[in-house]
Order: sequence, then structure tokens, then C-alpha cells
Amino acid sequence: AADPTAAVIAAEGEHVAHNYHPLPVVVSRAEGSWVTDVEGKRYLDLLSAYSALNFGHGHPAIVAAAQEQLTRLTLTSRAYHNDRLGLFATALAELCRKDLVLPMNTGAEAVETGIKVARAWGYRIKGIAPDAATIVVAHGNFHGRTTTIVGFSDDPDARRDFGPFTPGFVSVPFGDAAALEAAITPETAAVLIEPIQGEAGVILPPEGYLRAVREICTRHNVLFVADEIQSGLGRVGETFACDREGVVPDVYLLGKALGGGILPVSAVVANSDVLGVIHPGEHGSTFGGNPLASAVGLRVVEMLQTGEFQRRAAALGEHLEAKLEELIGRGVTAVRVAGLWAGVDIDPAVGTGRDIAERLIARGVLVKDTHGQTIRIAPPLVIRSTELDWAVEQLRVVLAG
Ligand code: PLP
Repeated sequence: AADPTAAVIAAEGEHVAHNYHPLPVVVSRAEGSWVTDVEGKRYLDLLSAYSALNFGHGHPAIVAAAQEQLTRLTLTSRAYHNDRLGLFATALAELCRKDLVLPMNTGAEAVETGIKVARAWGYRIKGIAPDAATIVVAHGNFHGRTTTIVGFSDDPDARRDFGPFTPGFVSVPFGDAAALEAAITPETAAVLIEPIQGEAGVILPPEGYLRAVREICTRHNVLFVADEIQSGLGRVGETFACDREGVVPDVYLLGKALGGGILPVSAVVANSDVLGVIHPGEHGSTFGGNPLASAVGLRVVEMLQTGEFQRRAAALGEHLEAKLEELIGRGVTAVRVAGLWAGVDIDPAVGTGRDIAERLIARGVLVKDTHGQTIRIAPPLVIRSTELDWAVEQLRVVLAG
């Protein structure tokens, strides 16, 4: 075809539902921080599949773990035991300093599981009256796309025409500990927040907020459930975003990078006094905890245990922050950075976030816009600092017109 990219996009559009509006790049291969399209053009991937590719594309250690497992045993369902799940759970629990893991697949499933666990804990341990439990969430949240989860979103596109929704959620401004405490009643089972809001545009709460949430939850006997699906597993220069304030939530929700960029792996991690409320028959998943996912997840946890990726994210993140701040006043109005994760607000005078993302394609850089004027930068943690410099230089050129 004269234009292979356009041809693939047109063909895809015939039979793939239009629930996304992808950037016009058709990727066919990738390695490390780089992807190659159907025309052989290379791009630096500064999105990392929304942080699912923290270790880059095709990390040899993760691929080896998957390949070794692929020919031995891939799926049993939880009707039987398999010889990988326990190893994965042991390592993940240790990484989280907790004692139980409930394995699922996607992030939204981990969130749904966390909601069920929090409610069951509320009734069975805290003693909340039947069907009265509430969960406090934050404005601007993004926790996934199931009907229950979108029901407590405040993004109209996420909700419109998908109701009626699950009751029992109360939303308060993100970053406001006083508002959060005011929303807590004797019926509150949990507070569910992203420690840093990803989809909202890498929104960092004010310093001290996570410590305040921890303290408020402890004082009111409410579970602190941290959705670290996008923020966790090395992205922010620590294992978890909660580590930035030295805070340990009652429940971690993990996903994305847990699957090493190979397959969906998610988990709910907590101590047995919380996660132990779930009994056989009350929750499950055909694929959750499968041996292939467990082998990959175990390798991911082993890679995080060294601290190498966390240190890389912290050092490269400082470098990125300094470079991005030079763009403020030159097409950028604000920058928020946590480790190797940045929200960059684009001056409307130079275009929308989407415009900038599209112009960067021509210069070999992939980023994703969010909420109109923001672009999100979340490179693989294996990126080189010279590559980051080059990418920021492309952004500078694009912003200068
Ligand atoms: N929670 C957070 C914080 C997320 O960023 C996402 C995805 O972007 C999810 C949950 C949902 O994950 P999934 O798309 O795997 O269902």
C-alpha cells in the first residue's frame, strides 16, 4: 500500500469498536524504550503503556521468565494448585511488607476486589450495619472502567449513559485531608485514593496529605486503600508512591507493571486481618494467579527487590524535572514531576495536549495527552538520560512551532 499506516488504521476501524482515539502510529516491534512502526520508523516511547512497561519493551529477564514458563505450564485455574502462585505471592507480600496477596488480572479487577474486601471487612470486623458501608473516594479519580468504578468517577464521559450505579461512595476534593475526615462516618469502611492521581494529569497531593490520610484512617478505624496501579512498582523513584511520605496503607492495589509488559497481572495486597475476610467461593477469577502470570510477576518483584529501578527512576526523574522546568513560559504553563513521571501543562496558545502529541510523532517521540491541555510523560525506567534529553529537545522544538 502507498500508506501502510493509513491502511492499517482504516482496516482496524472497520471492526474494532471505537472506544479509543489512538494516535496515528501503528507499532509492529519494540525493544527497550523504542518502538518501530509498520514503515520502519522508530519512536521513543514516553508513555510505557500507562506505566505497564516500567521495565521497557521485551526486558530480557522478564521475557526469559515468560518463555521458560510458557512451555511448562500456563493455566490451571484456581480449581487446582500450581507450583508458581505461592512463590509469586510470597515475594510480592514481602515487597509490600504484608502477608496476603489476592491475584487478579486487570487493574479494574483489583479495584473491584479491593472494594469487596473493604465492604466485607466493614461488616464482619468493624460491625457496620448490613448494606450501609460507604467508601470515601477523591474528585478527579481514575480507578478503571467497570460500572461500579465509573459510578464514582466525576468524568462525564466515563459515566454518561452507563448508570444506574452502585451506591455507597462519597467523593471529596483530592489533597484536602480536612474534607476527607469530614466525610467519614461510623459507616465508612475505607478511603480509596490514588496517592498520586495519574489519569487526572499526574496530580501530586500537598506534602503531608498521605500521612494525614493514614492518621485519619487509623483514628476512625477505616481502611486506607491505596490504588498504586499506575503510581507503584518503581515509577516514582520508590517502590510505592506512599513511600514518598513513609506511609503504609492497609491495602495496596497493584497492576500494570506487575505484568512486566507481557500480560495483565494485578493483585490486592494486605494483612490477613483484612484480606482474610474473604472465604472460598466469595471471590475469584479464572485467570487470576495463573502460573504464567505468576512466573512473570515473580520476576518483576525480584527485579524491584534490588532497588535498582527505583534509584534509576529517582535520578532520571530529577534530571527530567530540571529539563522540563526550562520549558515553563516557553509553551509550558506548569510541570508536576514524581520520579520518572511528569504531567506537563501545555499553553493553549501553542495548542492542545493532543496537538503536541501529534506534532511529536513527526519528531519520533510518543507521549499521551490527558484532560485537554496536559501531556503525560512516563518513560520506561530503563531509558538513558541522553535519550530523555533528546526527547525534551524535540518537545522544545515542537512548542517553539
Ligand atoms: N487504577 C489506576 C490508578 C489506573 O491508572 C488504572 C488504569 O489506567 C486502573 C486503575 C485500571 O487499570 P486497567 O486498565 O488495567 O483496568
